[in-house]
Amino acid sequence: MSETKHNWTKEEILDIYNKPLMELLYEAATIHRLHHDPNTVQVSTLLSIKTGGCSEDCGYCPQAARYHTNIEGNDLMTVQQVKAQALRAKSSGSSRVCMGAAWRNVKDGEEFDQVLEMVRTINKLDMEVCCTLGMVTENQAQRLAEAGLYAYNHNLDSSEEYYKEVISTRGFEDRLETIDNVRKTNVTVCSGGIIGMGEKKEDRAGMLVALSTLNPQPESTPINALVAVEGTPLEDQEPVSIWDMIRMVATTRIVMPETQVRLSAGRTQMTREGQAMCFFAGANSIFAGDKLLTTPNPDVNEDMKMFELLGLNPQKPFTKKVQPKTVEATESQYQDLGEKPKWTRPEHTIARNEKAKEKAKTIK
Ligand code: SF4
Repeated sequence: MSETKHNWTKEEILDIYNKPLMELLYEAATIHRLHHDPNTVQVSTLLSIKTGGCSEDCGYCPQAARYHTNIEGNDLMTVQQVKAQALRAKSSGSSRVCMGAAWRNVKDGEEFDQVLEMVRTINKLDMEVCCTLGMVTENQAQRLAEAGLYAYNHNLDSSEEYYKEVISTRGFEDRLETIDNVRKTNVTVCSGGIIGMGEKKEDRAGMLVALSTLNPQPESTPINALVAVEGTPLEDQEPVSIWDMIRMVATTRIVMPETQVRLSAGRTQMTREGQAMCFFAGANSIFAGDKLLTTPNPDVNEDMKMFELLGLNPQKPFTKKVQPKTVEATESQYQDLGEKPKWTRPEHTIARNEKAKEKAKTIK
């Protein structure tokens, strides 16, 4: 079995990305077979537990309050609502529920306590639980771990250089710090990014350098194709080509052999044949459900038909790691410290983000 390498350089990764396609696919598929069952795909359901109204300025995101998009915002869901959705996801073949809240960061208090209860509830349904709640402190990550969280998602989005062209309200190092805080617990790390935001191949390679040089590497890496939403700064980006997606998946598979590589946003723009090539290239996870937070996603029945056609099976929960134990709130050894994670506000603005913000003011 090939060793996991933690000192990839941008040049080495670019050499892989630029290989003749058949060679790239063959190499990625070979590595995939050494580390994973090629006919098993992990299925996650992404649930937006709190939608819209976010104070950040991520250029791709319709949930940023400063842009004018047609999404319907909602307050934090109740534990019962989340449980009902999780049961539905379980009955349609998902092994994991990923709960997303449009927050810049976690704030200790009532709402976080409610999220911790959601984590306990889903873990008791024998499903893997993932959260994506923005930045977290080490204590908050420990509290999530204690509640039974299986994974925490915090994407790097792009290379450190291109990140500055997409988000101005926090720095790349803030992302790394949250990942580091999660790593101090027994929660697995899910981190990836988005292609099609106008970045160069070098940025795609740069993002993979940042992810693959983490030690350990993330247990899962979502590769998203930008869904350009009207009203966001990136609304005019052309859809990314399927060939770029296949190359990105294959390259991720080669540099991160053990990681579950997830086909995430943008699957509605892909044909079944395109998705099949991504699975061949080493993708072994998808998001199921008709919505990915706020953007469209293929219907779960369509996905199950595709699985049947390709002879793929949904992965059972806790195949890669044992189920975490849930500690009840009354027995917790951690306290609510009233914390907010440290973060930096970079000293720059992004022209297209400012333009979208100004345009939104004229529409509201
Ligand atoms: S991606 Fe997350 S942090 Fe950025 S604007 Fe959207 S909800 Fe907020």
